[in-house]
Amino acid sequence: MPDKFREECAVMGVYGHPEAANMVYLGLYALQHRGQESSGIVSSDGKGLTSHRQMGLVADVFKEDVIKRLEGSSAIGHNRYSTTGQSHLKNAQPFVVEYSQGPIAISHNGNLVNGTLLREELERAGSIFQSTSDTEVIIHLIATSKESSLMGRIIEALAKARGAYSLLFLTLDRMIAARDPMGFRPLVLGRFQSGPSAGAYVVASETCALDLIEAVYLRDVEPGEIVVFGPDGMESLKPFPPVPHAKCIFEYIYFARPDSNLFGHNVYQVRKALGRQLARENGVPADLVTPVPDSGVPAAIGYAEDSGIPLDFGLIRNHYVGRTFIEPSQSIRNFGVKIKLNAQRAVLEGKRVVVVDDSIVRGTTSRKIIRMLRDAGAKEVHMRISSPPTVGPCYYGIDTPNRTELIAANGSVEEIRRYIEADTLAYLSRDGMYTYFDGKSQGFCDACFTGNYPVHFDDEGHTKQLHLFEALQQR
Ligand code: 5GP
Ligand code: SF4
Ligand code: MG
Repeated sequence: MPDKFREECAVMGVYGHPEAANMVYLGLYALQHRGQESSGIVSSDGKGLTSHRQMGLVADVFKEDVIKRLEGSSAIGHNRYSTTGQSHLKNAQPFVVEYSQGPIAISHNGNLVNGTLLREELERAGSIFQSTSDTEVIIHLIATSKESSLMGRIIEALAKARGAYSLLFLTLDRMIAARDPMGFRPLVLGRFQSGPSAGAYVVASETCALDLIEAVYLRDVEPGEIVVFGPDGMESLKPFPPVPHAKCIFEYIYFARPDSNLFGHNVYQVRKALGRQLARENGVPADLVTPVPDSGVPAAIGYAEDSGIPLDFGLIRNHYVGRTFIEPSQSIRNFGVKIKLNAQRAVLEGKRVVVVDDSIVRGTTSRKIIRMLRDAGAKEVHMRISSPPTVGPCYYGIDTPNRTELIAANGSVEEIRRYIEADTLAYLSRDGMYTYFDGKSQGFCDACFTGNYPVHFDDEGHTKQLHLFEALQQR
């Protein structure tokens, strides 16, 4: 399975600000949860593009001297995360290429389902790729386009791309934002309202990035929209025919930061509502509701609110766990989870516990957590999940593992319950997931929970691609 299909990312861009790179740096900091493997910024001073990309967290990648070097009044940045394998610097974004009209940089969040096909075509025609990322496909399509204007080239390239993209481009004098016609991944537009930078524009994956730099949220970049920021201001284009939207419901459930407003709703409020609905659907007599921190916290608050069962923290999280700690060779039971979470006997002893989490992926963490709760004295453990079973992988930019590793793709709820050793296990229903949205599931993608992969703007190629990916995933 090539890891280019398994990227989670953040994008951030600022146009018309004297400290553009600094603002992008802060935005990437706020968006660290969307990618922790590499980070990069490209800035423009009108004469050339300057780039810095490095493996590591935002705080480690950018030091004062690096930010100083990234001169100019516009900049775009990127955080990337991919699970295994090709986690190389060459895949770190933003990518920069020279084409006939000068340099152009690109930051991409999402995943093209026809990336492989397009890449093969481009390679046959002579394009030479530097990375294994599908993002590079977009830039080669732009570079090889016969259109004369940059916008013509971008529109032609995006018309060929299928799947998910929230994109930022940077040229010497323009920044361009684009969101795919189905709108899988978020992308928001903001503006600085006061001070010397008033009027400067910001585009980011989530609103939490705007909050940090005190930019005001204007609106979402709409599905299918291309927004151009240039010397003459901002211009919006909608060059593609409208298609049904497929906003990622999993952004609400797990991925986005709870303090972000996403697709028009506050993530924290949605997560609490998922928890309340979970309690309505799957109540169980208990003494205590406890979240799996951090991702399960808002849903647990909602569950406690609706059920009237008190909430308390039976699990405490260590926030300083890096991604690269070395497991000791002697086998300490539950080591992997214990380094991140510790169970509190004083809270759990003798209690019937409802433990709330947002999702079960492989089931291995949940199993260890339940053992920890019992070891700390919990009398009963009832696991409640604030989403439906994760039955399929994501092809649109979220890093879910292969179908073979997804426990819910391979067993019933009862089988999962036995595996994780819970007294009871229950998931939120698909309909329940949409109660906060007045029961309306239109406009959302929930394919990883339902298997209904949105193929609305499907053509033969897209369907074939999905089958091809399935085959690749099974390897
Ligand atoms: P499991 O029991 O399946 O091993 O782990 C479940 C945990 O994984 C949950 O706490 C959930 O928040 C977390 N999780 C769910 N989806 C993702 C994801 O896409 N990436 C990461 N890193 N964790 C996830
Ligand atoms: Fe989001 Fe799941 Fe759809 Fe992927 S498959 S876009 S994670 S809802
Ligand atoms: Mg979690």
